[in-house]
Amino acid sequence: MPEAPSEARSAIMRAVKSTNTKPEMKVRSLAHRLGFRFRLHRKSLPGRPDLVFVARRKAIFVNGCFWHGHDCKRGARAPKANAGYWLAKIEANRRRDARARAELAASGWESLTLWECEIRDEKALRARLLAFLAETSSAFPLRRLPSSFETGPSDPPQDEGARPARIPHPEEPRSGVSKDEAGERRAQRRRSSRRARQPRAS
Ligand SMILES: [Zn+2]
Repeated sequence: MPEAPSEARSAIMRAVKSTNTKPEMKVRSLAHRLGFRFRLHRKSLPGRPDLVFVARRKAIFVNGCFWHGHDCKRGARAPKANAGYWLAKIEANRRRDARARAELAASGWESLTLWECEIRDEKALRARLLAFLAETSSAFPLRRLPSSFETGPSDPPQDEGARPARIPHPEEPRSGVSKDEAGERRAQRRRSSRRARQPRAS
């Protein structure tokens, strides 16, 4: 059973897991300068990707090498204290990341994982972003809403056909003539018949 971390370590863990990290900001800034527009941390998508290009159905994860268990020098560093606890955490992160990528792929989304250690080289990063974002997947051409992922709970429904047909008000008459119109016609008939009688009476 892995040892539970101290309060201080829990605070570090929370900080590390937070969004808007330095590597992430660098990727966002570069993607923006390259002219791409994107959403951030969409909760409705598996794994809550850091950058989401909705129209392209593409998502980017920016992962810290240590916490997400990258196969690199930084990722291989073993924690000195509570190693068992942290290694289990990292393994759980790896499994969760793999599951999120698989779920995205299954619903027609392409994903790219950028590791912290790969982000320092801006020229290489630029090339990878362009290659990933420029190409259009032939397997999944752009289409509307095949899954529930695209609309979050707060998004309005986008499918016009899904709107319910207009239900007539119960007090509305079944014929095309409204109550007011019918009443007005009756009044007109009464007036004209009175006018017709009057000349004979005098
Ligand atoms: Zn790495």
